[in-house]
Amino acid sequence: MRKEIIRRSFVEYADLTASYYQGCQHGCLYCYNFHFHRRNFGVTYSQWIKARPKVSILKAKRLTYKAIKHFGPGHKLYLSFAHDPYMPVDGYRRLTYIILDEVLKNSDWIVMILTKAPERALCLDGPLFETYSERVWFGVTLTHYDDVKAKRIEPFAEPPSQRIQALWKAKTMGLKTWVSIEPWIPLLPRPATIESFYEENDRLKDFEEYLVDPVELIKRIPKPDLVIIGRLNHISRKYDKVIRKVYKKRFKEVSAYLNEKGYNFMVKKELMKVI
Ligand code: SF4
Repeated sequence: MRKEIIRRSFVEYADLTASYYQGCQHGCLYCYNFHFHRRNFGVTYSQWIKARPKVSILKAKRLTYKAIKHFGPGHKLYLSFAHDPYMPVDGYRRLTYIILDEVLKNSDWIVMILTKAPERALCLDGPLFETYSERVWFGVTLTHYDDVKAKRIEPFAEPPSQRIQALWKAKTMGLKTWVSIEPWIPLLPRPATIESFYEENDRLKDFEEYLVDPVELIKRIPKPDLVIIGRLNHISRKYDKVIRKVYKKRFKEVSAYLNEKGYNFMVKKELMKVI
């Protein structure tokens, strides 16, 4: 087991990130991290969604304090790219709170929360966010606006309607908000199962049903301070060819809308390569 829980991030727009659970209970079908563990360590889907803490509360506190000293002032900490910081297990393990509390009290770092359980996040840590509202950015991942369709691809996360409500709430609390449309899923095979998702799939005629239009998605949410858009990665070659075409065709329209409405947005480099 690695000794640190906070480290430099490999995500291009991020500075530091934290990883303190193994697995993620939200069980998204497109999860990059699950895909990585499946390929390299033979982790099964049912093992992945039984997320467990990597460290005890005391150790999390100690390692966070050490990281603050090690990295020094002026950083941004992203929670988290390795798992969701507010999946159900955190409701009683509370490692996210321990780390945030330590960081917000003992450093000048900015904290960038990113979750698919924002309702739970506000319920558990809303008061902490409000106390440090100058340094907390509240972020939500949105890949669809339809609760039923989202359930098929993110089966155990909060539905999009709830996430959008939570964004409104965060705004009224005075927090800066951000939205990650990553992955932008232009098409999705149906029925989407964990097996079919990563394997060759030629049911292309069914894909249209899952078309996600980022403009339609953005129109439904309160204007965030930042939008990140990224592509769907790690899929079969055949599927990849199809979605590249969709990205190419639709991106102009998406960026024109965002520019016209004055959104602050960033397009991730993997998506930039194909548009
Ligand atoms: S919330 Fe993120 S880390 Fe968790 S399963 Fe979904 S994509 Fe993976």
